[in-house]
Amino acid sequence: MLDPTCFLCGSLSDRGGFVQLDSSLRVTSDIAPIRADHSLFYTDEHHRSFSELSSFELSAAKGTILSFTEAMKVGGSPKVFLEHGPADGSVRSLGCCDHAHIHLVPLGIASGLETEFHAALETEVQKCISANELSPHKTIAFDNLSGVNGNNYIWFSFDLTELRIFFIKRDSRQLLRRIVAGALGESGFETWRLHDQAAAISTQLSLHSTANRLNRGNSF
Ligand SMILES: [Zn+2]
Ligand SMILES: [Zn+2]
Repeated sequence: MLDPTCFLCGSLSDRGGFVQLDSSLRVTSDIAPIRADHSLFYTDEHHRSFSELSSFELSAAKGTILSFTEAMKVGGSPKVFLEHGPADGSVRSLGCCDHAHIHLVPLGIASGLETEFHAALETEVQKCISANELSPHKTIAFDNLSGVNGNNYIWFSFDLTELRIFFIKRDSRQLLRRIVAGALGESGFETWRLHDQAAAISTQLSLHSTANRLNRGNSF
């Protein structure tokens, strides 16, 4: 089912389209990238979050996302995956839209600097917990994400193996972007408000060429 008011249900022509990865998953570029090649893996259907998928579907999605990411030009460099969880009740979307999508953010740092980034991310998370925006995390496997359905959450992971899930205590839009940008030393900049269509189209060309190279998926 598609939602005509939702941009991820549309053609995404503003950023060069999308790649259909398999029968239920697509990838496109983020129109306001935190870093170069910032991409969004999203469901065909207008799900509110990946927690609406079954364990079987999550397991398949994980395989598709990891193999495609591996083949991208940023495949071997440090990166983080994140999802703004569902929007329900009075708390609207915790991210950019109410359609399930996982951000892939290549960090743009040299391999070996991950430890510093992890520590900086922890500091930003602790600030949010202190400000009562987040609850302390619990760790779950990606395939078990359906267990948090119905709650507002955010998660991040470096390899989609274990997710660090934080439940949202109040409406904090774009919280994950704020946390990641802060950990990258850009807390003073509201990077998510800076739409960069040229960068998004460039990333999309790269996604299309990765799909062609893998000889999988269809580009639209
Ligand atoms: Zn949608
Ligand atoms: Zn988002």
